[in-house]
Amino acid sequence: MKLDTRAMRYLTPEDWRVLTAVEMGSKNHEIVPTPLIEKIARLKGGASGVHKSISALAKAGLIARMKEAKYDGYRLGYGGLDYLALHTHAARKHVYSVGSRIGVGKESDIMMVADDKGTQKVLKIHRLGRISFRTVKTNRDYLKNRQSASWMYLSRLAAIKEYAFMQALQEEGFPVPEPIAQSRHTIVMSLVDALPMRQVSSVPDPASLYADLIGLILRLAKHGLIHGDFNEFNILIREDRDERDPDNIILTPILIDFPQMVSMDHQNAEMYFDRDVECIKRFFSRRFHFTSTTPGPFFKDAKKTVGRDGARRLDAAVEASGFTKKMVKDLEAAIREQQANCKEDAHDSDDSEDDSEEEGDNGSGEDEQGEVVIGDHISLESEGLQKLTISDGT
Ligand code: ADP
Ligand code: MG
Repeated sequence: MKLDTRAMRYLTPEDWRVLTAVEMGSKNHEIVPTPLIEKIARLKGGASGVHKSISALAKAGLIARMKEAKYDGYRLGYGGLDYLALHTHAARKHVYSVGSRIGVGKESDIMMVADDKGTQKVLKIHRLGRISFRTVKTNRDYLKNRQSASWMYLSRLAAIKEYAFMQALQEEGFPVPEPIAQSRHTIVMSLVDALPMRQVSSVPDPASLYADLIGLILRLAKHGLIHGDFNEFNILIREDRDERDPDNIILTPILIDFPQMVSMDHQNAEMYFDRDVECIKRFFSRRFHFTSTTPGPFFKDAKKTVGRDGARRLDAAVEASGFTKKMVKDLEAAIREQQANCKEDAHDSDDSEDDSEEEGDNGSGEDEQGEVVIGDHISLESEGLQKLTISDGT
């Protein structure tokens, strides 16, 4: 599923109202009955206006008619949810145009976007339901009952959690992108002008970069957190020229990708901590032929530092954002499932270190659709409807 914004500019304010109505209806209905869509949308043109919009939305692939259902109804698709999120970002002036896709992971699409001043930003679209949920499906009752809603629910949880952590980390001065906005399953953040460490073939001083990265792991731990996916794809390396010595390039690691972060109090915290440390050690040894002479760091030592020197515990940040324990568990199960699937897939390519393009289709441009302006086509009227009726702040 990739974002295709082409139909966006052709949607009328009525179409947006109807799309919003389908989204609202799907909170309680897997397939939203047509009369309910009519009731929520309350278009001036009445039922015929709603039907016209429904056809337009279905033609653009944003909603899908479910014929096998007991009643006539529609289901919101990923495309529809993408449009609603973009619509909100546009109405709030965070996004004006959508450019090319710069990354695609198993669980997200990363798009270049810009605001009306031309400032480039990054839109991350979570796609957690892209894989099949084997364990989650059997473990969790609600998914059995609402299978189609699960992708929407889980992707939204991932975005909410990632945004909450990005905000908390930024407040504590961690090197992370600036969180700008969150809507549904998407996040808008600042564009980091840096390449993933995966694409860095050599560095002048591996020991110093290694120390910085281990330092970050320990600093996170002090604030009660483990990244949980601390690898060469999720660490961007920014190159800055040293002002005092222009020949000297300063490398700064920037951390991204936070939906899987866990607390230092998590029951498997030691495993996650050791895995993050091991990942860096292995990468430095393979890529830069660097092995630290210092063993560790070890979880038991890091654990003693949690909250030390007045460090604010950030593991509570997500709960503070309204995440319930059930949500935490649901998301964790989904991410575990996803990581298990990724591992199976990645197995073959484990040793092909030099193939820096292998991850997704970064930079290949095969799905270029050019820049699409969306901001001009967003009406405040349907945004008003969203504000009135969607009360969960996303
Ligand atoms: P996923 O959850 O799919 O792994 P990530 O958040 O790790 O998604 O992003 C995938 C890729 O997109 C990264 O490896 C990086 O190349 C790029 N990317 C993501 N966020 C940014 C950003 N703020 N600035 C620049 N590049 C980014
Ligand atoms: Mg990543």
